[in-house]
Amino acid sequence: MIILGPPGAGKGTQCERLVETFGLVQLSTGEMLRAEVKSGSELGQTAKEIMDAGELVPDDLIISMISSQIDQQSEAKGVILDGFPRTTAQAEALDVMLSEKSLSMDHVVQLEVDEDAIVERLSGRFSCANCGAGYHDTFSPPAEEGKCDKCGHTEFSRRSDDNPETVRSRLVAYREQTAPILPFYQDKGVLQSVDGMGGMEEVFDQIKEIVAGG
Ligand code: ADP
Ligand code: ADP
Ligand code: ZN
Repeated sequence: MIILGPPGAGKGTQCERLVETFGLVQLSTGEMLRAEVKSGSELGQTAKEIMDAGELVPDDLIISMISSQIDQQSEAKGVILDGFPRTTAQAEALDVMLSEKSLSMDHVVQLEVDEDAIVERLSGRFSCANCGAGYHDTFSPPAEEGKCDKCGHTEFSRRSDDNPETVRSRLVAYREQTAPILPFYQDKGVLQSVDGMGGMEEVFDQIKEIVAGG
C-alpha cells in the first residue's frame, strides 16, 4: 500500500501502527535518504543539500533506491510505501516497477491535514535516536519524560529540515510536485482519503478499516 500526504500529516506515525498491527514492512524514502546522509555515501552527499533546502531529490536516484529496497522484501507479507511516490514520474515508474515484479497495489491512502496543523506537528516532532519511534512535544510525549516508550533509550533527535524556513519549501514542493499525483490514483479508482485531523488512534481506526476491508 501507499500512504500519501503532506509533510507532518502523520504518515510515519500511522506506518508505525500498521507495522505493529498488520506485520507490514515500512519503506520510507525519507528514512533511507537520512541513512545515506549519515553514512556519507555519494547518494547521501548529493541528497543532503537538497533535503536541507526542502526540495525533492531527483527522480532517477529515488526510483532506483526504492526498486532495490522492494527487491529485498520478497518474504514480506506486504509493504507500505511512505514518502514515495512524490512526483508524477515516480508514480508512473512505480506502476512499471510493480508490473515487472508481478506485485499488486491494494490501497492508496491519502491523509488530509490542514496547513496550520502541519506546521504545529512538524515544529514539535522528535524521535528516539536508537529505535526511531516518533514523538511530539505536545501531542505524544513519551510516557516517562526523557525515556523512549519502545526501547528505554534516553537520547532523542530532531530533524534539521523541520525548521520553519525549510518547512515552507517542503510545503511548496508538496503542493506543486506531489499533490498532482492524487488525480493519477483517483482516475484509477484506488485513492482513499482519510481525515488526518483527529487524534492518532482515530486516524488509525479509519486506516484499519480500509486495510481490513481488503
Ligand atoms: P516528511 O515525512 O516530513 O514528508 P520525508 O522524511 O518523507 O519527510 O522526506 C524528507 C526529505 O527527503 C524530503 O523533503 C525530500 O528532500 C527527500 N525525499 C524523501 N522522499 C522523496 C521522494 N520520494 N522523492 C524525492 N525526494 C524525497
Ligand atoms: P509525516 O511522516 O507525515 O511527516 P509524522 O508521522 O512524523 O508525519 O508526524 C509529524 C508529527 O506530528 C509527529 O511529531 C507526530 O507525533 C505528530 N502527529 C502525528 N499524527 C498526529 C495526530 N493525528 N495528531 C497530533 N499529532 C500527530
Ligand atoms: Zn526508542
